[in-house]
Amino acid sequence: MHQEEIQVARSSLPPFDEYIEEIRDLWDSHRLTNMGPKHKELENLLKDYLQCDRISMYVNGHSALEGIIEALELGADGRNKVITTPFTFASTTHAIVRKGLVPVFADIDPVTLTLSPESIESVLDADVCAILPVHVYGNLCDIDAIQRIADKNSLKVIYDAAHAFGVSQDGIGAARFGDASIFSFHATKVFNTIEGGAVCFSDPALEDTLNQWKNFGITGPESVEYVGGNAKMNEFAAAMGLCNLRHVDDEIAKRSRIDTAYRELLDSIEGVRVVSQKKPGLRSNFSYLPVLFDEPYGNTRDEVFSHLKQAGINPRKYFYPLVPDYDCYRDDYDSSLTPVAKDASNKILTLPIYADLELDDVRRICNLIAEHAR
Ligand SMILES: *Cc1c(COP(=O)(O)O)cnc(C)c1O
Repeated sequence: MHQEEIQVARSSLPPFDEYIEEIRDLWDSHRLTNMGPKHKELENLLKDYLQCDRISMYVNGHSALEGIIEALELGADGRNKVITTPFTFASTTHAIVRKGLVPVFADIDPVTLTLSPESIESVLDADVCAILPVHVYGNLCDIDAIQRIADKNSLKVIYDAAHAFGVSQDGIGAARFGDASIFSFHATKVFNTIEGGAVCFSDPALEDTLNQWKNFGITGPESVEYVGGNAKMNEFAAAMGLCNLRHVDDEIAKRSRIDTAYRELLDSIEGVRVVSQKKPGLRSNFSYLPVLFDEPYGNTRDEVFSHLKQAGINPRKYFYPLVPDYDCYRDDYDSSLTPVAKDASNKILTLPIYADLELDDVRRICNLIAEHAR
């Protein structure tokens, strides 16, 4: 029997008619972008959903990250280094570099794969102005320890919460930590606006800058105060967000069942470890199914990757290569200085997970992994 290939992720879409209904009035208003009514409505709903005081939506998560780096004026006091993790997506590091700052890589914790506070302290010096940690796979960082380091050294903290939509600890939403958090609403994320993103923050002084930076720095009908860019979310994208937001809790519940099935089936295989956290008080979004293949498994990550590929399953080596090993950073950085991240990057595989993935397919994937063990 021919079986369709299974991808690592599958974008969520609302029922077709629901989206058509949502965009119908755009043909009356002819208002397609520039912070229109759907943009405003979605911002208000997301502010509640994410539990943040203030929000500014962007055309994507990466622009939101560049926007908040700009708004916080990182580097303006002469300190130009930002401590971050090498175990992340290109966006995190690129935003630092593209804003004229210098990334400094600290190592990660071997359990959560998020930045290790001890390692942050070991690379800290007088030129550091901020910490940019990532809630990898929705595993929340060691928020308290990171805040203590920041407070002691007058550092800003910007969380890359691209993986953490809907994640909370003891009822407190991920968006509430640090000076700001950025979210991605990219098609492959748990909640999508096709492409989109937002920055969540509390300080009212940041609001105007963040809203103007995404619109060429225009501050009034006849005034342009900043050299801003263009990073506005359009009304069709906002409409997709309005629809998807109505279904996101159902989708997370469906993902939860898939996550549980994977854990039950993978648990008995020696050397296979699911990395996403399950702990008291944590509301996860089950955005990824990250697995580390350790020594006792007997085969390498690359071998199991090929084995799954041959069966039409397409997992992802996420994150591999490590950021300091990218062609554009290799000359300036040495990934062996962050050995925990290096090791994780060589052993990690994210397995397919999305709301409508069949449990039969989960069983098939786990059987393929089991039969390939030593
Ligand atoms: C997806 C992602 C981003 C970037 O988001 P875009 O919306 O695609 O620009 C940034 N950081 C991490 C960790 C991501 O996974």
